[in-house]
Amino acid sequence: MRSALRLTNLICVSDHPAALLNDATLAEVADAAATCAMCKLAGHRTQVVFGVGDPRADLMFVGEGPGKDEDEQGEPFVGRAGKLLTQLIEGFGFTRKDVYIANVVKCRPPGNRDPEPDEIATCSPFLIRQIEAVRPRVIVTLGSPATRTLLRTREGITHLRGTWQTFRGLPVMPTYHPAYLLRSYTLENRRKVFEDLKAARERMEDPGA
Ligand code: URA
Repeated sequence: MRSALRLTNLICVSDHPAALLNDATLAEVADAAATCAMCKLAGHRTQVVFGVGDPRADLMFVGEGPGKDEDEQGEPFVGRAGKLLTQLIEGFGFTRKDVYIANVVKCRPPGNRDPEPDEIATCSPFLIRQIEAVRPRVIVTLGSPATRTLLRTREGITHLRGTWQTFRGLPVMPTYHPAYLLRSYTLENRRKVFEDLKAARERMEDPGA
């Protein structure tokens, strides 16, 4: 917990371009992100991968960061893991257009390595403004980096998945990242992700539940 807080504070939020956009629309936050060169990932990207979907979505997914396909196409979750996420979304009767999909970092980490703490600290104000602009009813975090960033915890996804958490008053359901599910496609893991998404949909449809 302490370390996550310290890392987030490395960047003074008021110095950040996204901080100028208090009640910003999603388009304004996207514009600010599009030219960002505040961390070393900027030098490696083809383009900024900001987010996709309904700007007024009730359900928002947050992943880790763009991979090769996303960097090339400018859209989150379009590669192998993205196809699985799309199937999961559609399995619950939605399309990608009904939800909003974003990542913690908006530029591809080289070689698909994990985003580093300073990169997450620099980029997460964009994610926070993005969430504030969409104000979804429910957020689903995909994997440890997204979960740790939003919840400011060092706890891993194995402990947190399937448990309701809160980010700035919004319910958060952590679940496994689809890339993990692809690597470990067991009946048990699929069942867990299915249950997490079912809980998210129920909460979204009945916020009092
Ligand atoms: N993995 C992520 O976390 N995000 C993407 O956009 C693609 C793969």
